[in-house]
Amino acid sequence: MSNLWIAALEAPDRARLEPHLTERRFTQGQVLYEAGEPVEDVWFPLEGVVSLMTVLSEERMVETAAIGREGLVGVTCGPMNGRASSRAIAQLAGSAACCPADAFAEALAGSETLRMALAKFTESLFAQVQQTAACNAQHRLDERLARWLLTLHDRADGDRFALTQADIAGMLGVRRATVSEVGAVLEDRHLIRRGRGWVEVLEREALEQAACGCYGLLRGVMKDLGVPRPIAA
Ligand SMILES: [Zn+2]
Repeated sequence: MSNLWIAALEAPDRARLEPHLTERRFTQGQVLYEAGEPVEDVWFPLEGVVSLMTVLSEERMVETAAIGREGLVGVTCGPMNGRASSRAIAQLAGSAACCPADAFAEALAGSETLRMALAKFTESLFAQVQQTAACNAQHRLDERLARWLLTLHDRADGDRFALTQADIAGMLGVRRATVSEVGAVLEDRHLIRRGRGWVEVLEREALEQAACGCYGLLRGVMKDLGVPRPIAA
């Protein structure tokens, strides 16, 4: 298991980070950091998926980005901001190589190429957040659900993930009953299969066609930026 963002760095930059990395596991639903709190560690996922959530109130929140082994978590607004602007929550269990935030800042200060690699990642993250905001406001729920499942599928190992209706409702910022109805639409088309606490992607290509344009657009942005992509697409 490796983090693709670290793996794509130049050797001297990797060497700046590696002495500071320690592996940590995270469980599904674990909060890595809370909005408004200082971020003490930068997380480089090795497996699993972390969602950045904008919290409106205790009951209401919505996902604005999902990050897996292609990226890093903990530098939401750039290295100048020591406080988290969103909640980071593990969507699928996994592990990460963790670097103390001050050691990461020091490594950045010493390397132009490392700063450039981070700038590219934050640019792609910004694109994801912007696109997700527009998607949440404008696109049909079945298209959003398809997009979100594809985003997860890209970052997961295998076609089946541990997810409850409540998890999905929480991510999309809608009610559980609504997710159940919309999931049935995708299931009736044999694109996905659902069980108690899991969802399986059956027809990947058809699911891409069922998703809104946001999914393909973001894949294009990542390709143009030359940042590591979660799958070879
Ligand atoms: Zn969309």
